[in-house]
Parts: sequence; structure tokens; C-alpha cells
Amino acid sequence: MPLVWLRLIWRISYALFLIFVVTVATSMPIVFAAPPLARVSSAVEYDIVVHIDPDAQTIKGRSVITTTSPHELILTLGRRFKVTQALVDGAILEPSGTSPGMMRTWQILGSQSVPRRIEVYWYGKLSPLNTSLNHQQTLGRPEPVSGSFGTFLPDSSGWYPRIVGELASYRVTLEMPPGQRGLVAGRIIEESESGEGYHARFEFPFPSEGIDFMGGPYTVKTDTMQSTGGKRIQLRTYFHPQIKELARVYLDAVKDYIDLYESWIGEYPFTEFSVISSPTPTGFGMPTLTYLGIDVLRLPFIRSTSLGHEVLHNWWGNGVYPYYPGGNWSEGLTTFMADYAYKERIGPEAAREMRLSWLRDFAALSPGQDSALDTFTTRTHGASQIVGYNKAAMMFLMLRDLLGYESFDRALKAFWHHQRFRIASWSDLRRAFETESGQDLKTFFEQWLTYTGAPTVRIAKAIRTQSDSGYCVTITLEQVASSYNLRVPIAVHTKEGKEIRTFDLDHDRQTFSFGLRTKPLEVALDPDWRLFRRLTPDEAPPILRQVMVDQTAVTVLLSGMGEARVAAEALAKKLQNRAPKIVSATDALTATPVLVIGLQEQVDMWLILHKLPARPVIIRRDGTAHAWTVVRKDGVTLAIVSAQDTASLEALLRPLPHYGRQSYVVFDGARAIERGTWPARVQVVKLK
Ligand SMILES: [Zn+2]
Repeated sequence: MPLVWLRLIWRISYALFLIFVVTVATSMPIVFAAPPLARVSSAVEYDIVVHIDPDAQTIKGRSVITTTSPHELILTLGRRFKVTQALVDGAILEPSGTSPGMMRTWQILGSQSVPRRIEVYWYGKLSPLNTSLNHQQTLGRPEPVSGSFGTFLPDSSGWYPRIVGELASYRVTLEMPPGQRGLVAGRIIEESESGEGYHARFEFPFPSEGIDFMGGPYTVKTDTMQSTGGKRIQLRTYFHPQIKELARVYLDAVKDYIDLYESWIGEYPFTEFSVISSPTPTGFGMPTLTYLGIDVLRLPFIRSTSLGHEVLHNWWGNGVYPYYPGGNWSEGLTTFMADYAYKERIGPEAAREMRLSWLRDFAALSPGQDSALDTFTTRTHGASQIVGYNKAAMMFLMLRDLLGYESFDRALKAFWHHQRFRIASWSDLRRAFETESGQDLKTFFEQWLTYTGAPTVRIAKAIRTQSDSGYCVTITLEQVASSYNLRVPIAVHTKEGKEIRTFDLDHDRQTFSFGLRTKPLEVALDPDWRLFRRLTPDEAPPILRQVMVDQTAVTVLLSGMGEARVAAEALAKKLQNRAPKIVSATDALTATPVLVIGLQEQVDMWLILHKLPARPVIIRRDGTAHAWTVVRKDGVTLAIVSAQDTASLEALLRPLPHYGRQSYVVFDGARAIERGTWPARVQVVKLK
């Protein structure tokens, strides 16, 4: 089977940036000793020398590609570059000529005389750096950009000649003018600076998916640490001068994360890790490094959340590569062992809150809007993140609940041990968990990976009876229109406290009975939110995102004309990322979610007209604008945006779309001064 893969850029989840402080403890026992790291050879090796001049925005390079592959190969390079010479084993290589798009290609016929040597000389112009681009725009442009404030040549821009579809190891030698520094992922083996300029040589001896180049007027700070296997790891920050004082805290944080994951998974697979500042507000990681916007790096919570996530990708994603056609498991596992694990370290309440937020986000999707987890490759929009990151992380949580911590962690270590620098699939993960636990996990993996949607679980009935020896509870559970095998946690409350019992629900409807000494008072379904399911409208506190992502949502604009109307319509469009479906303010409400936008008095009148609850007390007093959700009796969500005047409405345009996870937000101008979610309501049945 041909090697099919996608060039993946690890994207940081800004939605997960919650402000908290966590100290990463490193006290987990080491119960696993990794064998010495075997060098994994690639069929393709690049030896590149490039000279990059950011002021002139030029690049000039020479690459020698060595390959042991006897097959036909396709060589590509960005069309913007000129090739002065291309040779295969000394013979001139002509372009294929017909290739469309932004890449130029050459066909290299198969040959039994290996290794083959391909040599390419090229030069060209880079695009000017535009620091006003946002995160999405930076990622969305496969364009090589350069300027004195920063250079970024993404692999996808075709800045160097590469063989299509092959993982490759490489050496890169780079030259830049004085004051500039640059790097690619990998180990730095030579570095010097003189009046002539900066010179550095990097080596990446593992199969890599591609090469990204970063450069800038960096101040470099270096530190070292020892891996569990005694290997020296070089840590570096490449920071713009305005944030150079942050270097120390970043280096310390990286050390803590490497310690944590070495003891949890196995030895850090590389010999370096660098944190690099980017002139645009982007954020992502590659093997051995993470590239984060200057302003992003300034946020104190980045060190306690996203940084650890990116460090962990050196194991999951860049240490073991996902088999993309079968689904990318690495984001879910990384979210579980980074973002979620940090919440567990803060405490059970913080972890519970994160699980609830995952379920709440999923509940905000309209049925059919999600895809099966095994089709997730990379985060492209909100729904794919909710599945690829959150649902997958919750799947790992359920798996750990099923297998127990020890067996779960043993399987992860074994998976790492066997799959390092290999492409591994969900099935490989399943096999690792099956081997370590001795359990058949076919159904578990199949249902969570291949089914779309999620089960809705309900307590259909629960009664208490009394006997000579105590009490008996009989509880009927049902899953609505789904056929999962579920482990449903039920909390039984007595006067003395609560205990959790787990029931295997593998039919539509099942009845379970159990005895108790103490009088049971009530039962609650999964009160800690440990089961992946679609929350019922009663359980899920409505959040603003529901009217933002639901394609059927309609919009009511209460200002009939003028500037207020224009502002309201622009806001609706921004929130829903599409042209709003506008309905009349006097129409009866239908069974679809509704976004209502208007000025304060208009909103209050409209709520009375439709017999809806008045503006909630919690947001009534302050601010120039309010946004909040209401659930109608039939379970349909409304989001209401109310501003005191047109200017206050216009001020919401930029900030409000970022508050989709909230049930209410109070704004003073463009600044959110209060926000929160309505409390979730656990399904409880009082026993009679
Ligand atoms: Zn990630």
C-alpha cells in the first residue's frame, strides 16, 4: 500500500486556553526503562544549504537528495522559484511541464541502481512578511514569507525541493545576514556568527514529514537537561528582543514537561526542544520545537497549558505518526495527557468541569453535524475539534475508567516502545490496550470510532423497595435510538453519602437491581460526566455557541432600519460565519434555535411578547451590552444579544464570537466584564 499521509501542522487550541495555574509535579514512579533509541533510516535524505536574506526577501539554495528507493519518484518545488540546475546521477533532469497549481514537478523514473543522487540548485523571491495576519491566515497560507522581523517558510510552500509522499531525514545548513538567526526542527550541530553573518547546521536523523524554516532577529538562550536514559537534551528559546526576559521561565517549564512525560511514557525521543517566537499571532508545534506568537508567549497561562501540549506532541504525533487514512488519534491522546491531565492535577472539580465542557460543546452541535472519530485528521473547524480533540480525549478517559490506571499506563508505554518513529493506527493503539489488559476491546473501539453522534442515556424509572435485610433499588436505564455498549455510572445517595455503581447497558432498555443496607434517597445518572453522551436539553446548560454552529438557526433583528440594523446584521453574520436566515420579529417561534439581536428596550418588549423569561438578574445591572441564552419549554435554545445603543452593539463585533462557550456575557464596550455558564443539571430521580 502506498504511504498516504498528510503534512500536519499541530494547531494550538485557543478554545482550551483557560486561565489557571498548575505546577507540574514530576513525582510519578519510573516503572519502565526504554532501550537505547534505534536510529530509524529513511529511504530519502536531504542535504540542503540555503542562504536567506530577509531584507532582500531572497533565498538561494542547493540540495543533494539521496534515495535508496528504486521506484519512480516525483520531485516538487514551489513554482515561484527558479531552478538553475537539476541533475539525477549527473544527468540533467527536465521538468514534467504539465503540473498545475503552485508547485513545479519533475518525474524521476525508477532505477535499480541505488542509491540515487539528485542535485538541485534554486533561487527566488520570498513574499513580504505581513504581521497583521491572524492565526488562521498564517496557517492558511502556504506561502514563504520573510522580513527583518521574521521569516517563516512552511513546508507546504515548497521552499526546498522535496520528494512527494516520502518521509525523509535531513541536514540543513543555513546562512543569514548579521543579527538574524534561523532554525529548522532537529539538532544544531554547528553554529557561528561573525561580521559576515550567521551560520548554522542542523541534522534531523529521523523520518520526518517535512521541513519548516523559522528565522528572526532572535536572542537565543540555551539550557540543557538529561533524559531518563542519560542523553543530553538541549533546550533553547529563540525570542524577539521584546520578550527575551521570558526565556528562563519557558526553559524551566519545558524541563518540567519533559520530565513528566518521560516518566509517564518513555524517554524523550529527540536531543533538543526549542520555543520560538513568531511575529504573527500563531501557535503550533513540530518535532523538537514550538512556534508561538510574541503576544501568545506573553500570556502567563500558555506555559501551564499549550506549552505542555506541544511538548507532548514529540511523543504523540511527531514521535509516533498517526495513520491518517484511519483517523488521527494523536490530538485526542495529547489532549487527554496534557490539557486534561493538568486539570486533574488542579483537582477533581477542575477535571469534572472540563469533561462537562466537552459534553456541553458536543450538545451544542446539531444532530448530524459531527463526523465519526476515525475520519478526523486535523482541526479545520469547531465541529472537527469537538470530535478529534474532545471526544477522543473522553474516549481515552472511558478506556482508563474501564481498564484501570495501571493497565492503561502500561499500554501507553508499550505502544510507545513498539511504535516509535513508525506510523501507527487506532488499531495499533487498540492492540496495545488489549495486550496489556487482556480484554477484548473490539466493541469499545468500534463504537466510539465509527459511530457518529452519541447516545442519549436516561433513567426511565427508579424505585425503592424494602426487605428484611435492608433496601433494594430497581432502576431502568435506556438509550434513545442508539445501540452502544455503555458503562453507565449511577450515583446512589443515602443519608450517609453517595456511592457510584456502574451498570452495563447494552440494549435499548435494561433494568438493574441492587441491595443496600442504608435507605437510598435518590439516584443520579453519571453525575461526574464520565460517559460520552449527548446531554439532554435539561442536562446541558445552553451556551451561545448553539446558535452559532447550528446551520438551521434563524435570526431575529429587532431594529427595522438604520445603523442599528446594519450593526445587528453584521454581528449575526460574524457569529454564524454565514449569511443569517432572518425571520420577522413578530413571527411565532419555530422549532429551530433563534438568535435575537436588538437594543435594550426592543429586547425586553420582544421577550414579553413571546412570553419568555425576562433578562436574567445576574446580568441586569452593569455593562453596555448583554448576551445570554434561554431554553424554551420545548428544549430549543435562544441566544439574545442586547445593547444599550448602536455603538455598544458595534463594539461586540470582534469579541462576542469568542464567547461561544458561555451562557451569558456582560460587555462594557468591547470588554467582557462578566461571563459564565448556567449550571448543568444532573438527571436525578428521587426514590419513593
Ligand atoms: Zn495538538
